[in-house]
Amino acid sequence: MSSVAERWRAMRAAIDAECQEIGRSPDDVTLVTVTKFHPASLVRDLIVAGARDFGESRHQDAAPKVAEVNDGSVRWHFVGQIQSNKARAIAQYASAVHSLDRASVVAALRTSEHIVDGFIEVNLTDDPARGGVMGESALLELAALIDETPSIVLKGVMAVAPLDGDADAAFAELHRLSTVLSATYPDATDISAGMSNDWQIALRHGATHLRIGTAITGNRPTVG
Ligand SMILES: *Cc1c(COP(=O)(O)O)cnc(C)c1O
Repeated sequence: MSSVAERWRAMRAAIDAECQEIGRSPDDVTLVTVTKFHPASLVRDLIVAGARDFGESRHQDAAPKVAEVNDGSVRWHFVGQIQSNKARAIAQYASAVHSLDRASVVAALRTSEHIVDGFIEVNLTDDPARGGVMGESALLELAALIDETPSIVLKGVMAVAPLDGDADAAFAELHRLSTVLSATYPDATDISAGMSNDWQIALRHGATHLRIGTAITGNRPTVG
């Protein structure tokens, strides 16, 4: 059985090798290890292995974990759905928020003293109930609002591939929306896409931030 540290090193090596293969620089690709459901002790093992970027998706779980890890060299990425009334609390520890999906969340961050990197979440399904803005005009509308918000530095777009859909087509569309965004906001070129099962596809479509959980951490621990 491999350890979580070994799986993190193997994943980073696989990403670097894939970058070589497709002619991209590994330095342009951030591996965000998603540690939701897992304890602070696992985060510490990963820090020893060299990991510095961690993803969490629920504020209630993330806040105590961040406090317990208590390591200033770590960057926390918030990747889950945000409730507006939690946004400012999230900005206290998160360096980046990947899931900006509506005006109320941006408005809630406006009064934050902490500056965060922001990604606009895009919905690549045709189900409006899924998180994220749908289509170019909604993307540009939210981008304009973020651009007027000094506490958020607009970095780019984020998406989750549709569960039962074609990840290749979805990430191609995300890349297209990224070029639409960066035509107006030249610094907003980042693409947060790719998880344990589809990161190679995301890399080929320009992903700069891979959010990888189970391939490194293993499955959600069973309780009891
Ligand atoms: C859980 C989660 C991930 C990681 O997914 P894995 O399939 O475990 O790699 C990535 N992004 C988001 C938004 C998540 O909630």
